[in-house]
Order: sequence, then C-alpha cells, then structure tokens
Amino acid sequence: MIPFEYLSPESLDEAVSLLDPEDPDIRPVGGGTAIMLMMKAGVLRPTRLVSLHRTEARHRQISLGDDGELHIGGMTTLAALEHSSLVREGWPVLTRTFRRLSNVRVRNVATIGGNLAHADPHMDMPPVLSALGARVVAIGPNGKREIAVEDLCVGYYETVLARNELISEVIVPPMKGGHAAYFKVTTRVAHDWPSLGIAVAARMEGGKIRDIKLVVGAATDRPTRLLQAEAQLGGLAPDDTLLGNAGIAAAKSLNIVSDSHGSSAYKKHLLSIYLGRAVRAAMDSQN
Ligand SMILES: Cc1cc2nc3c(=O)[nH]c(=O)nc-3n(C[C@H](O)[C@H](O)[C@H](O)COP(=O)(O)OP(=O)(O)OC[C@H]3O[C@@H](n4cnc5c(N)ncnc54)[C@H](O)[C@@H]3O)c2cc1C
Repeated sequence: MIPFEYLSPESLDEAVSLLDPEDPDIRPVGGGTAIMLMMKAGVLRPTRLVSLHRTEARHRQISLGDDGELHIGGMTTLAALEHSSLVREGWPVLTRTFRRLSNVRVRNVATIGGNLAHADPHMDMPPVLSALGARVVAIGPNGKREIAVEDLCVGYYETVLARNELISEVIVPPMKGGHAAYFKVTTRVAHDWPSLGIAVAARMEGGKIRDIKLVVGAATDRPTRLLQAEAQLGGLAPDDTLLGNAGIAAAKSLNIVSDSHGSSAYKKHLLSIYLGRAVRAAMDSQN
C-alpha cells in the first residue's frame, strides 16, 4: 500500500480546512466502509485521509426541531439511527430500511454523511430520503448551504458537493400522517445490495393518492424520480389496473442499466411489478 497521511481533527471546520478543492486524493472519512473497499480495490490511492470521527459530538446527535423536523448529525452511524426511538416513532420507514441495509458490522460504523456522499446508485437511503423530501446541510470554507437529497447525486459516485464540502447534517421533514414504504428487491439474502430499490411517499385523502413521490434506485446512474408514474397516480384511487399501468409505463420510460445484480430487462420487469406493490405497502403502512 502506498503510504498516506491520516489526520483526526477535533472540529468540522478544521476538517474542511484540511481538504483540498482541487485534489481528489485527499478524502474525508466517515465510517470508512466504502473508502476501505475502494482502497483495497486500488481505485482510490489517497495521499491524505481526514477522519471525522473526533469532530464535535453534536455531529453524532439525533434530535427533533421545533417544527417537527428530524435533525441527524452527519457523523451519526446507521446503527444509531436504526435503534433510535425518535426515528422509529416519527419515520418508521427509515427504521425498516436500516434493518435491511448491509450487515450489522457495516451499520455500526458507517455514517449517514458518508452514506449519502458516496453516491453509489445502488444505495438504499438516497431513494428513501429523496421521497421523504429530506435535505443535507453541507459545510465548506464559505459557510453552509442546504441541498435536497434528490439533487445531491449527479452520476456514478458523483455528487454536487465540492471536494472541500462536508455533510454536517441531514434534515427530514415530518411525515404529518403521510404514508411511506421502501421495497428492496435482492437476488440473494434480504440485506444484500438491491437489484432494484423503490421508495414511495404519499398522502391519502378520501381514498385518493395525493402528493406522491416515487424514487427508484439501482436502476440508472443515480436515484431517479418517476415523474410520469407520479402524474399517472396522483388524484386517483389506487387499483390493480392503475398501479400495473403506472409500473409498466415507468419501466418503459427509464433507460435502465444492467449490472451484476440483474440485467436491464430483469430490472424493468421488477419495476413494472414492484412499483404497484410499493405503493400498496405505503398505503397500508401507519406512516
Ligand atoms: C459489505 C458491504 C455491504 C453493503 N451493502 C449495502 C446495502 O445493501 N445497501 C446500501 O445502501 N449500502 C450498502 N453498503 C454501503 C454502505 O452503506 C456504505 O459503505 C456506507 O454507508 C458508507 O458510509 P461511511 O461512513 O463508511 O463512508 P466512508 O467510507 O467514510 O466514505 C464514503 C465516501 O463519502 C465521503 N465522505 C464521508 N463522510 C463524508 C461527509 N460527512 N461529508 C462529505 N463526504 C463524506 C468519503 O470521502 C468517501 O468518498 C455496503 C457496504 C459494505 C462494505
């Protein structure tokens, strides 16, 4: 292994100052679960790693804002989120998703900031958080900005974050009686990487679907909103024909990419079936 510098600053501001906007070989480290795999595979040969592990404790906290929004520190582990009663009571779809995301060893160290910054299009959290309308707070040398999770990923392993910007917080709006579900279709064990992931968030009003958001993962180079299917379903009562047609139209409209978890044709078939199942699961959920 090529030697590299490993720094552990005690504040996020200091961490930002140790990054370089021009140098892709200087990287922040959250849990390191993705970085270590990239280093082992030889696709990343860092000259400096900046660990976020010792930064201020507030970046590992989960709290409720006055407006009912969920505030998650960027360095909070996925396991802490999985076991949080606050998350389970207000956003049970997140708790259910964490339980099937990888294994307990990974969840114990992986951070929500690292998870969202990694931008592997197969990841489970970006579709769910996008459907829920979540946003991240990014901190850089010029201060903070908020970015909708839906706008964060722009391609394979690529985000809109500058190389010296860090995700310091994730904010999730309250469910307000809305419904949500995430369907993860795997070909081997339940917690494997998905062949297809589909997230739904919606409200029901007089038996009709309102404000529906559908986001698919593991299908294209980034989590993708299914706007056409949303328009097809909005304002109508869900029945098998409507849901089936929306699934078929969504599958036709997307240029789905084959990968080691399934061919494009297989993923299209999954989407045509699972879109309806995910919407039904959301409607049947408490929220
Ligand atoms: C065996 C295995 C199975 C897996 N299975 C699944 C699965 O089924 N579903 C799934 O969704 N995921 C899965 N994953 C991926 C896992 O979720 C990610 O590796 C993990 O969430 C990344 O978080 P981390 O904190 O370890 O990131 P790191 O490895 O620390 O960093 C990842 C990237 O984000 C950058 N980064 C880290 N923190 C920040 C920050 N705060 N701000 C900005 N940039 C940052 C790093 O520089 C790096 O580019 C699996 C991983 C493994 C190892």
